[in-house]
Order: sequence, then structure tokens, then C-alpha cells
Amino acid sequence: MRVILLLAAAAALLADDKTAMLQKMDSQSPHYGEVSRKIWEFAEVGYKENKSSELLKSELKQAGFAIEAPIGGVPTAFTAAWGQGKPVIAIMGEYDALPGLSQDAVPERRPIVNGGPGHGCGHNLLGTASLFAAVTLKDWMAAHHIKGTLRFYGTPAEEGGGGKLYMARAGAFNGVDVVLSWHPADQNGASMASSLAIISAKFRFYGKAAHAAAAPDAGRSALDGLMIMGQSIEFLREHIPDSTRIHYVITNGGAAPNIVPDYAEMFLYARHPSMPVLDGIWERILKCARAGALASETRMEMELIDSAYNILPNDSLAALVDKNMRLVGGVTYTAWEQSFAETIRKTLPGRGQLGSQEKVEPPREGFTSASTDAGDISWMYPMAALSAATFVPGVPPHSWQSAACAGMSIGRKGMVVAAKGLVLTAMDLFTDPAQVTAAKADFEKRRAGYEYRSRIPADHKPPLNYRDNK
Ligand SMILES: [Zn+2]
Repeated sequence: MRVILLLAAAAALLADDKTAMLQKMDSQSPHYGEVSRKIWEFAEVGYKENKSSELLKSELKQAGFAIEAPIGGVPTAFTAAWGQGKPVIAIMGEYDALPGLSQDAVPERRPIVNGGPGHGCGHNLLGTASLFAAVTLKDWMAAHHIKGTLRFYGTPAEEGGGGKLYMARAGAFNGVDVVLSWHPADQNGASMASSLAIISAKFRFYGKAAHAAAAPDAGRSALDGLMIMGQSIEFLREHIPDSTRIHYVITNGGAAPNIVPDYAEMFLYARHPSMPVLDGIWERILKCARAGALASETRMEMELIDSAYNILPNDSLAALVDKNMRLVGGVTYTAWEQSFAETIRKTLPGRGQLGSQEKVEPPREGFTSASTDAGDISWMYPMAALSAATFVPGVPPHSWQSAACAGMSIGRKGMVVAAKGLVLTAMDLFTDPAQVTAAKADFEKRRAGYEYRSRIPADHKPPLNYRDNK
């Protein structure tokens, strides 16, 4: 009886703490709005996020975290730790931008730098909300003498560069009990959705240059090899599982029509909801590439760029996040934000429902047709996931519209929702060991004995220049 009363008293205290915490975070949010805006302006692509990672590191260092950098041969990867002992709770933060999505914070297409990079996936908000959560939690832990370790993971190049894989390979996640992740979206709520496993590579063909009119017989076209590979893949599509996605671009197709190209490059992604199934599809894609080289009498080289697992959801963590997101609530627009939202929605007719940003949706299930290197982490440790409405309802990620939202107050309001959701969830995990135990039990049940194995070869170097085309 006495134990029950004590537990009930502790729970009531925590509830008071949470209300006070939400108010405190509101008063501290302007500073983090500025941090997110700076990273939005830096707009640095994967593995080049020098200023962005420096800014996050300096904020964490100032707050008393111990910084470790670089990690796993990646200059812009870092960890920041505070506290000691168990549990070890990790919060992940990303900060890379996307090429070609430079966009001002206005509801019409207006690049700041023509063809330049922009934060079309809102990772400026992602990294900053995680920073906001980490610093807030550290203050709370210090004030209440909470036992445990808080770790922030600065994870570069999420957009196709796989930064988390190299951090995990270097052992940076060792000892973690639960990982908290979130992603900008056009809605709020816990996520139990999986994602698509991905393998990506650059296929380079080397031929023999010749005058295309005067001596074509002397040349061997690298572009021919690439196109035969592409054509083989088009035939392959009929004979692979329905849920497969294969897409590619030609990043180099030769210099001029009157020169037989001696070099051509294709950048290709393949995806499927299951990594073991994708392994088999990948073997067949390699055959298409070899066929291209064989038929065109050119040489083919492949450089593996990225490989990420589908996300392994966690039921008990999703329930915990859902409970806390209901305390946090959604995003309310001012009249000006409402008119910004209406203007931007005219460019995307028929998508989403304006007003839904105010609600917290039930945990999302199924899978999203995207991929993330957070997938690998979710197969190594129990991982919680949440979304916040940083984008106007109906605005998809990787668009100029999402880049615009990420640079203004709508994006910042969603970012605060995410930070609050992370903080309240971590408070439960630090004070209630049963929640950590339940998360681990769900993790074991979901993976059902499957042993995670990174698809990146042990000696593979991080593709630090994967955004450059040769
Ligand atoms: Zn993203």
C-alpha cells in the first residue's frame, strides 16, 4: 500500500513537472528558432555540414555536454554526452540540406541561389529540436538529480549518405538503451510506420573515345554501356516484387555528340520493404550493369554509396510517445501564417486538410515510401519515432514548399512540438525503468531473432564527396 502511494505521488509529481516543463520550453523556444534559421541559411549538403555541426556542437558544449568529434572518419559527425550510469537515452539530430532546393521563406517558388541547396526535408529543424530537447532534459536532470546518461548524436548526410552507419560502425552507439528520433512532416503524432530498405550506388562505365562521325568503329561508348544497363533494368521491373522501387539518374552522359563518350555515370537507388529481399534484387541489378559493360565492350565499376534498413517500429515506445504528444498538442497558426498556408496550398491542389496541424494523430502504421539511415539504428536498439507538423498540411518533404516552411515560423512551431514530445518521452524513460524494459521486450519481439548486419563492407570509407558528380 505504502509503495503504491509513493508511486502515485511520484507520478503526480512528474505530471506537475511536465506541465511546468512545457511552459518553460515555450519561453526558451525563440533562441532555438534562431538556431534553426541559421542552419536553414547555411543549407549545407551531406558530409559538408561544417557550419551547421559547429553551431550545434557549440550550443551543446556551452550547456555542459562532453563533445566527441569527429566520429568514424566523418568530420561533421559528433556525439555530446551528459550525466552518468543507466539508462542511456540517445537523441538523434540531422542537419543536411538537399541539392537544388534553394528557396526563400515565401509561399511562391523563389530560389535564394539558383540551383543551390536548401532545407527541403526540414533537417535544420530536426537537428535543432533535438538540441532543444537535449539541453532542456539536461537542466531537468541536474535540477532533480535524475540518474542516467543523455547522449545527443549529430548524424550527418541522412539524405543518401548514410552518416549513421559509420557512427554505429565506430561504436558510437554502444551502451544505448533507447534511441529517440523524429522527423519533420505535415502532421503531429507518434510513428509506428516502417520505411523502405535502400541500397544505392554509382555505376561508372569506361569506354574509348573516338570521332563519332569519322571513326566510330574505333570507339567504344561508355554511354552505350550505361543505356544497356538502364534498358535491362526496365525489363527487370516486370519480374521483381511489386513493392520494389528502382530509380536512377545519369550524372554524366558524355561531353558532346560528336565524341564517342569514354566515360558515363549512373546514380541508382533500389528499395524494398525488406532488406533480405532487397539483397536478392540488388544481385540482379548488378547483372544488368555487367550486361551493359559486356555488350558495349566497356569497363564498369560500381561505388556503393548508401545502404539503410527499413525502420523496425516499437509498439510500447509508440504508445509512450503518443501519450506524451497528446499532452503537447499540435500547432496553431496566426492569421498571417494561415494566409501563408493558404497561398502555398494553391500550388499543391487537393492534398491534405488545412487545420489538421492542430491535432495529434494516432500512431501511424504501415510504411512510408522513403528510406532513412535511422533504419539501421532501429535494428540495433529500441527506437521511438515521432512526427511534427513543421510543413503546412499537404506539403510533401523534398519540395520547395517544405523548404519555405522550414525557414519560417510555421516550421519553428512544429519544431517546438517535436522538442516537447522528445523531452516528455525521455522524462518517462529516465524515471520509469519499466518503460525501458518494455521497449526492449518489444524490440526483441519485433526482430524475432534476426541479427542486424550492416550492408556497408567493413573497409568501406564514408562517401564524403557523394554529392559531387565526376
Ligand atoms: Zn529527412
